[in-house]
Amino acid sequence: MDRIAIAPKDRVFVLTGAGISAESGLPTFRAEDGLWAGYRVEDVCTPDAWKRDPAGVWAFYSARRASGQKAMPNPAHIALAELERQLGDRFFLCTQNVDDLHERAGSKRLLHMHGELEKARCERECGRAPVEDHAIYQNLAEVGRCACGGRLRPHIVFFGEIPLEMDRIQDEIAKATLMVVVGTSGSVYPAANFVHWARQGGARTVYIGPEQPLNAHAFTNVVLGKAGEVMPGWFQLE
Ligand code: NAD
Repeated sequence: MDRIAIAPKDRVFVLTGAGISAESGLPTFRAEDGLWAGYRVEDVCTPDAWKRDPAGVWAFYSARRASGQKAMPNPAHIALAELERQLGDRFFLCTQNVDDLHERAGSKRLLHMHGELEKARCERECGRAPVEDHAIYQNLAEVGRCACGGRLRPHIVFFGEIPLEMDRIQDEIAKATLMVVVGTSGSVYPAANFVHWARQGGARTVYIGPEQPLNAHAFTNVVLGKAGEVMPGWFQLE
């Protein structure tokens, strides 16, 4: 597929997944061996894991922070920040990623539906807002407490928890005339359904990634290639 045309009436909704950060050196979720960076998801990324072994969960997310802090945005992150500068409020970016590479590339109209690696929040869900937290914890004793006394947990949506700000996401999808999905396998819900919601609203839908996602049939176009190679210069404003 050639470059994608964006008309003055278009509103663009972008969904990104782990694949957009792959060229920045961050491992995607579905590795060949079924592990995520050497861990089993159920050991580190579920409410049960947090109850059973909060030290192990923080060890995993501390290691993710250490990798994330060393990584740099790649040309795909930069292309989306540039598109936002051109489209203003006709652009919206929803990411499943917990890294901050979109922000560091310059994106602002951005929502992290699965949380943010560089934040922590109260394990008791006491209502206080998440706090910035960049620490690489060596042990549980170093982890802070909320004003209510609860232990701070990673500000991450664990498997089995409800993604953040779904109402706002649904509103933005309903307004979109073009959905661009980048680097996600189409296996994690509800994100894998966004393409169907966009189609119901009559939007064009395009996928970019090196292999077909599981929900490939739902896209108007699938562009096979690495995001960092396909995306720079790919959007053509009419
Ligand atoms: P996934 O690992 O299931 O799928 C990654 C997809 O990216 C694959 O389809 C793969 O073909 C594609 N991909 C690989 N290299 C690419 C490239 N250079 N350009 C474009 N696409 C490329 O990831 P997912 O669908 O995002 O779901 C995994 C879950 O794990 C998400 O919920 C996410 O929150 C979490 N996660 C986040 C990060 C991060 O923040 N960087 C990393 C791993 C996992």
